[in-house]
Amino acid sequence: MQLTSAKSIEATSCGDCTACCRIFAIAEINKPQHVTCKHLCGSLCDIYENRPRECAEYFCGWRQGLITGVDRRPDKWGVVFHRPADTAVPSLYVYELVAGRSQDKDVQWAVAKFRKRFPDFRVVYIAPETFLENAKVSVVGADFYLKNGP
Ligand code: SF4
Ligand code: SF4
Repeated sequence: MQLTSAKSIEATSCGDCTACCRIFAIAEINKPQHVTCKHLCGSLCDIYENRPRECAEYFCGWRQGLITGVDRRPDKWGVVFHRPADTAVPSLYVYELVAGRSQDKDVQWAVAKFRKRFPDFRVVYIAPETFLENAKVSVVGADFYLKNGP
């Protein structure tokens, strides 16, 4: 997880994006998945200097340069590209901030571009507030779309 900072110096700095502080679980501070971190104050972290290592070392796909463009910063784009390190199959997780956003033309264009670069990866789309362990697979194929409920 990467600290969100008000400083926006580089094109790929977090700026005032807080997407990952709202999506991911952070064990060190007992932050559950899909719960906004209690340390988030606006777009700033109130424990910035002592934030968990998980936060300090996190780079989403946009920050890794998998996708480029200021309009594709996750909070603006509506999805977070995330490459988990611990999956048996190499995967790109596309977390939606807004339901259905992953099917947007520009997001699909970026996914197609990713596929060309990483043909062995599968793509897993994850609807907002979906817990992977409880998720229902609504589309099966080369890709998965995971969401809560029926
Ligand atoms: S501790 Fe700070 S950087 Fe980590 S999730 Fe919370 S607000 Fe974000
Ligand atoms: S989702 Fe990416 S750009 Fe947004 S705060 Fe997290 S690491 Fe920074």
